[in-house]
Amino acid sequence: MQLYNSLTHTKEEFIPNEPGKVKMYTCGPTVYHFAHIGNLRTYIMEDVLEKYLRYIGYDVKRVMNITDVGHLTSDADEGEDKMLKGAKREHKTVMEIAQFYTDAFFADCEKLGIKTPDVVEPATNCIDEFIKVVEGLLEKGFAYIAGGNVYFDTSKLKQYYVFNNFDEDDLEVGVREGVEADENKKNKNDFVLWFTKSKFEDQALKWDSPWGVGYPGWHIECSCISMKHLGEDLDIHCGGIDNAFPHHTNEIAQSEAYLGHKWCNYWFHVLHLNTNSGKMSKSKGEFLTVSLLESKGYDPKAYRFFCLGSHYRKSLVFTYENLDNAAQAFDKLIARIAALKVDEGEKVDEAKFEELKKLFTDALDNDVNTSLAITALYDVLKADTNAATKLALIEDFDKVLTLDLISHAEKIRNAEPANSAADGELAAEVEKLIAERAAAKKAKNFAEADRIRNYLAEKGVTLVDSREGTSWKLEG
Ligand code: AMP
Ligand code: ZN
Repeated sequence: MQLYNSLTHTKEEFIPNEPGKVKMYTCGPTVYHFAHIGNLRTYIMEDVLEKYLRYIGYDVKRVMNITDVGHLTSDADEGEDKMLKGAKREHKTVMEIAQFYTDAFFADCEKLGIKTPDVVEPATNCIDEFIKVVEGLLEKGFAYIAGGNVYFDTSKLKQYYVFNNFDEDDLEVGVREGVEADENKKNKNDFVLWFTKSKFEDQALKWDSPWGVGYPGWHIECSCISMKHLGEDLDIHCGGIDNAFPHHTNEIAQSEAYLGHKWCNYWFHVLHLNTNSGKMSKSKGEFLTVSLLESKGYDPKAYRFFCLGSHYRKSLVFTYENLDNAAQAFDKLIARIAALKVDEGEKVDEAKFEELKKLFTDALDNDVNTSLAITALYDVLKADTNAATKLALIEDFDKVLTLDLISHAEKIRNAEPANSAADGELAAEVEKLIAERAAAKKAKNFAEADRIRNYLAEKGVTLVDSREGTSWKLEG
C-alpha cells in the first residue's frame, strides 16, 4: 500500500516495523464542546485508513487520547485551558464537561460509522507517565525549569521543524496577537511540559509533581499515551493538518529526545473541512454538528459519503448545496442497490468478484483514494455480472466504507409492502369507479361517465376502453 508521509513529503510503500502488525495513534478530541463536522471529517478519514489496513490483513492496534486537561486556547501554551473555559460556560465542573462531551463525541462517531479505537485513554489517567517522561527529559538536558514551569528546550535538537522548512522569523507561534509572550522561554518555540505557574490561578485540575502542584502540557499527553500502549516505536500517527505544527512537531521533539531514537515512521494528516467563509469554528457562524445536520433531515451516513467523495489530502468546502448533492447521489446509490434482485440458486461469480474487488483495492492502495473507491462501487453496479456477485462485493467494500449500504437498501425494500398497500387501495378505488362509469354509460348518463374519467385523469389514471372492457394505467 502506498501512503503519503507528511514527514518525507512523498508517497511511500507502507512497511510497518513488525510484519503484519500496525501500531497506530490518533490525536483524540479536546472534550470541552461538541465536535464539529470538520473535526469529524478527520476521524472519518482515519477510520477508513484503519479499516482498510485491517481489510488487507493487518493486525491493527489503534490508540486515541481524550484531551481533558492541558489544551490551552492557543496551541502555543497561551490562553486559558479549553476545558476550564467549557466548564465556566456551562457552570459545570471540568470532569462533568469532559464526561458529557466524551459521550457526545462517541455518539457522533457511532452515527458516522467511526469505529472506537482499541484503546481510548483520557489524559487525566496518565499523570504518572507524564511526570516520568518530563523527569527523563530534564535528566537528559532537553528540558529546563523557569518561573516554576518545565519547558522543552528546542535549541538542543538537531532539527526542530520536521514537517516543513518554516522560516523561523515568520513563525512566531509563541506570540499571537493579543497574547503576551512567555518571558520564561529561552527560545520562542520552547513549549511547556508541565505547568505550575499558569496565568490562570483557577485551573481546576492540578496534581502533585516534583516541580510543584500543576498540570501537564498538551503535547506531552500524546507522546506518553502512545508510548504507554504502543511502546517505543509507532507505525502511523494521525491527526488533522493543524496538528502538524506545533503539536506533532513537539510530540516528535520530546518523544525522540526521551527515547534517543526515531519514534514514528508515517504521519497521516487530514486536510481541513472549511466553510465558504474559511476556517470552521465552534464559536463563529453556525456551529455545524452531526445533530444539526440530523435536525435538518440529513442522514449522518450521507455526510460520511460526502467526505469519502474527496481525497483526505485536499481541503473540502462544506456548503449545504454540496451536501445536498452528495445526499441525493447517496439516495440514488441506495435505490440502485435495493433494485438488485438475486434469482433463486444464483451464485457469486468468484472470478468477477476478484476482478471488481481489485478496482477497489487499487484505489485504496493508492494513498487511501476514497473517491476512486466509490467509483469502484459504481463500477460494480454497472458490471456485467449477476446480482449475487454485485451484492457480495458491495457488502465486502462496506467493511471499509461503512455506509450501511446493504441495510439502507433493505429498508427501502421493506418499505415496498407499504407502497403496495397504497397501490392496492388505489387499484380498488379505480376498479370501483370503472364499474360505476360502466353503469352510468349503460344508463346513458354520459355526463357522469365523463366526470369519472376526468376525476381519474386528475389522479394520473388513464382509462383505456376496448371491446374486452375498460383497463387503466397510471401515468408517470
Ligand atoms: P480538537 O478537538 O480541537 O483537538 O480537534 C480534533 C481533531 O480535529 C484534530 O485532529 C484536529 O486536527 C481536527 N480538526 C480541527 N479542525 C478541523 C477541520 N476544520 N477540518 C478537519 N479536521 C479538523
Ligand atoms: Zn495529539
